[in-house]
Order: sequence, then C-alpha cells, then structure tokens
Amino acid sequence: MPELPEVETIRKSLEKELKNRTIVDVVVNYENIIAEPTVFSFVEQIKNQTIHQLKRYGKWLIFELDQYVLLSHLRMEGKYFFRTKEDPISKHEHVIFCLDDDRELRYHDTRKFGRMYLLKKEEAYDVPPLSKLGLEPWDSLLTVTYLKEKLKNKTIPIKTCLLDQSIIVGIGNIYANEILFLSRISPLKKSNCLTKKELERIIENTRTVLKEAIEMGGSTIRSYHPSEGIDGMFQQKLYVHGKDGTPCPVCGKPIQKKFINGRSSYYCAHCQK
Ligand SMILES: [Zn+2]
Repeated sequence: MPELPEVETIRKSLEKELKNRTIVDVVVNYENIIAEPTVFSFVEQIKNQTIHQLKRYGKWLIFELDQYVLLSHLRMEGKYFFRTKEDPISKHEHVIFCLDDDRELRYHDTRKFGRMYLLKKEEAYDVPPLSKLGLEPWDSLLTVTYLKEKLKNKTIPIKTCLLDQSIIVGIGNIYANEILFLSRISPLKKSNCLTKKELERIIENTRTVLKEAIEMGGSTIRSYHPSEGIDGMFQQKLYVHGKDGTPCPVCGKPIQKKFINGRSSYYCAHCQK
C-alpha cells in the first residue's frame, strides 16, 4: 500500500507530466472505481477539463481542473501509467484518460480497491471524503492541545490512533511503528494516558519521519514511477519496522512483533514504555 511519502512522489511525477494538459475523453472500464458522481456524469463533466495542478491531502491525489477537482485514492494497488492509444489495454486498466497530447493516462488497479471522486471545485474540501480527514502532519493546528482533545476518550492503543486518518492524515503502518520507537512510547499504551511531553514527541517525530521519507521518495514505492522499468525500492532507514528478532539499535534487546488491531507492530519493549 502506498503511504503518504509514496503518494507525494507520485503526485510530483504526475504533475510534471500533466500540468496544463487537457482531458479530451475518458473511458471507464470498471464502474466501481468511480465513487461519485455517476459514471455517466463523471465522463461528461471531466471532458475538456484542463489539469492545472496536482495536490495531495493525506493519501488522496487531487487533480485541480477548471470547474472540478478529481480525487483519486490508490488504496492497495492503484497505479498510474502513461500509454499511447496504440498500446493494448490490460484487464487491470480501469479508467483511461485521453489527453490532448495523444497520450493516455491509465489507472491500473489489480485489486480494484482504488476510488475516484469528481467534485465541484468550490465544495471539494467541505464534503466527504476530504471533510472527514484530520490534519496534515505539517499543519500548524497540529498541537498537543489538538491531540489531547482528539484522544481524551480513547482507551485504544496509541498505535491504532496514529493510523486513524480522522486525527492525523497520512501516517501508515510503517511510519507509525517508527514514530513510536523514536518517541520511546509503547504502541500498546492507551491513547488517553499519554503525557504532554509524549504527545510533543509524537508530533515532532511524525514530522521528522515523514519529511525524511518524502525526501527519499518513500519506503515502499510500487506505484507509478516516472521511468517505468525502474521499480523503485527506496529504503528509508527503518529502525524497527520489519526487524523482529534483531537487536534494538538503542539497547540491543530483540525487537518484538505483535499484531495490534490487525496491523503488524514492531517495537522494543525495553525502550518503549
Ligand atoms: Zn531498546
């Protein structure tokens, strides 16, 4: 699953190729990818819209068009590829955007979990899915007070709350494990029991870990890559994720693995309290 840093890399690569391109037509081969509006309206409304900018909010890609915005979430396996009209269409290419430079932007998704919304520009941020999202890691509103308020009634593990996109957007499983290790907090600690100091460390380390990951292009890129053929596997320096049984880089005791709310969690029981 692409995480926030990967989606940011995809955004940058796509924006380079798509800025000022006009979508002349679109073909939808698998209707469930289009969450809103109906497929008929989606096709009618997106035709002849020019792509001005690509943004990102959490893991949503946001294509800014003339009157609309196209939101795209890649979920597990969504990818974008550029093809020509002559290229055969694979069975996994579910949405095909025909561009004014004769290329096609094809949305490819073997699992079919990805979703797209086409919303009016003026309301896109005020309605779901974007209106349900929490703060970006770099938002100045992300403070200890904000987190305290969001977590005050939550007795579930802090690891689970870090993955909750309605609190902070874009922290995926790998990064949640790393953030908690750097913050010296057990992933099992009850969310409403964190001290002010601990919440401060979480905010600081969230920013550090994600910023570094974005600079490195993400840790698990398997989605759209500018030069196809290069299957980017940028490996960020990970301290605990995927390292069960190996010595903790701080104390040397073995890193443990535990499933928390169904997600694999790696931590040092000695350093993380
Ligand atoms: Zn340790």
